Amino acid sequence: MIRVENIVKNFEGRNVLNGVSMTMEQGKITCLIGPSGSGKTTLLRTLTLLEPADSGQLYIEGVKYDFPLDGPLRVPPWPGITVVFQSLFLWPHLTMRENIMLPARRAGLPNVHERLEEIVAFFEMAPFIDRYPNEASRGQQQRVALARALMLNPKYVFLDEITSALDVEQVAKVLEYLQKLRDTGIGIFIITHLLGFARRASDQILFLNDGKIEESGGPEILVNPQSVRLKNFVQLIEAAS
Ligand code: ADP
Ligand code: MG
Repeated sequence: MIRVENIVKNFEGRNVLNGVSMTMEQGKITCLIGPSGSGKTTLLRTLTLLEPADSGQLYIEGVKYDFPLDGPLRVPPWPGITVVFQSLFLWPHLTMRENIMLPARRAGLPNVHERLEEIVAFFEMAPFIDRYPNEASRGQQQRVALARALMLNPKYVFLDEITSALDVEQVAKVLEYLQKLRDTGIGIFIITHLLGFARRASDQILFLNDGKIEESGGPEILVNPQSVRLKNFVQLIEAAS
């Protein structure tokens, strides 16, 4: 389980996260939704320790990180938790296969070839695995970025709006994989504007507004929002899609 309590984060004197508390679990999909600028990416970066908070506590599988950190991390959480960003950061001069293999080799993980075969099958990547990123569609690149993260055998995967640049069919494919991944026991944390996906597939939805979790619960909160702000947000997104 990953849990944060009372996370506060300021940038240049401006408050971005204002007392966020939440939990997420392995084998579950947690969707984080909220207006642009509400602090979603900052929360993801705090949960993954890419950006330490100013105050509050983070617990990753029982290991406590107290903010502000008092020095270098004694127990780094990576690659047990791993992040896929919207800009996929694939290396253009390496084939997709090499892109997927490199971090796993560097980490000295065992059985990388067997794992690669499994993951290629899981993501149906055989037809394009030996191409370079610029010879593949955005959806294929997306699968490669996910596959590369999974090669590290994480317990949790964090995804920041990874589907924004995809067309409808590619989105459907990636989301289908995320559900399969959840069923393998991986905890998934996804920032998304796809409320349909959040409603169908998520175990938990968190609505972040102005640096606070304004409302949280199961998919039903999108159907029957309690707060006016979530109600307005849902209407706004649905009107735009
Ligand atoms: P979201 O992902 O919900 O759109 P972000 O977490 O990216 O929101 O940003 C929340 C606010 O924090 C924004 O106003 C953004 O400009 C500000 N912010 C984010 N990162 C930084 C940073 N490194 N330095 C200064 N301000 C930042
Ligand atoms: Mg963001």
